[in-house]
Amino acid sequence: MKTEPFSSLSEFLNHIINTFTRPGIKLNENELKQRNKEIKDAWTSHLQSNPDSIYGKIKTSTKDIEKTLNIDSTTPRYNEVVQALYSELLDSLQDSIRNIFDSDVAFSALETKYINAQVFQSPGEKYFAVIVNSSLIELLHKLGKLDTALMFPGSVVYCNRYPREKITSSQIESLRLEYYAHFQLNKRSHGPLLQLDDKAMHLHISGLTIKEKFIICHELGHILNGDFLNLSFGDHFFEYINNKNHRKEYMADIFGFLLLLESMKENSEISSPQRLFILSTIIQLFDVFWGLQKEEKDLHPDPLNRLLCITEHFYGPKFTPIVRESYSNKNAINQIVAMINDVDSIEKVLLESLNKWILVLNEKKSDIQNH
Ligand SMILES: [Zn+2]
Repeated sequence: MKTEPFSSLSEFLNHIINTFTRPGIKLNENELKQRNKEIKDAWTSHLQSNPDSIYGKIKTSTKDIEKTLNIDSTTPRYNEVVQALYSELLDSLQDSIRNIFDSDVAFSALETKYINAQVFQSPGEKYFAVIVNSSLIELLHKLGKLDTALMFPGSVVYCNRYPREKITSSQIESLRLEYYAHFQLNKRSHGPLLQLDDKAMHLHISGLTIKEKFIICHELGHILNGDFLNLSFGDHFFEYINNKNHRKEYMADIFGFLLLLESMKENSEISSPQRLFILSTIIQLFDVFWGLQKEEKDLHPDPLNRLLCITEHFYGPKFTPIVRESYSNKNAINQIVAMINDVDSIEKVLLESLNKWILVLNEKKSDIQNH
């Protein structure tokens, strides 16, 4: 057995949080140098104590970490939300899947400028720390309220930008752009306060929970894909996609959506209305990703293609062109509603494949740990 540089999962998570958070101060040149040295030491100590290890095994290199460093920060907002959703998710998964994450993965929200959500692996490869940007959750919260307000304009009880008038759809649209602009500029979601009535708020929070859960599930999807074990289920599943990074993202979406569905099943079923609600929520989520990313990048596929890939696999091939059409044709949504009882999902087959794949993951994991 190799010596772990971190003796527990929580110790590793705290290390990641402390590395990426410096409350309320801007570091000067010397402090930056010192901090970079600390990170480098922590992340390379494993290589010194395990000369046989290969650099490639540690996916997140010191260089990558330096790129994503957060300098100005406060206590992470929404941390309890992330923790609660993760533990709720774990409780709902079957044992074989839960065991992959259970004692090795920890989640935290974080005030960080450069990450939206990301998995970090500890030296020694045993532990995973998953970080979700607090501002991303806040942005989803604000935009989700605006989306709900657009659907039900009468539900807006109060907006401090227009305190004495009824807010209009075009005013709501411009508030959306304002939130995006702030987020893109400084990863903060500044903007006016919007209060919805109870019914609309309930709808919004239900959707927000699904979006947050999917973000958590997507990151777990990377672990399931074998991204940290030099394995990749997605290399076979998405053979026809040339870009290796894209294969990883699509596969994290597919496994992530599977976990999301599993966690939402009651008596091993998801009702049609629930399935429709999940679809509309996921459409909204990928619209936000599109608003932040716009086009295809080398590391990330076009967010709308990611959405279509999910609908193709979990709703069926005939849903995909209609979801695509829904961006230009309002009637497309009615067609989706009419078709929702006729879903053609791969989830059962995928779950079986995943359970077989987990045996491969576990074997590789124990190989590495006994090496
Ligand atoms: Zn990803």
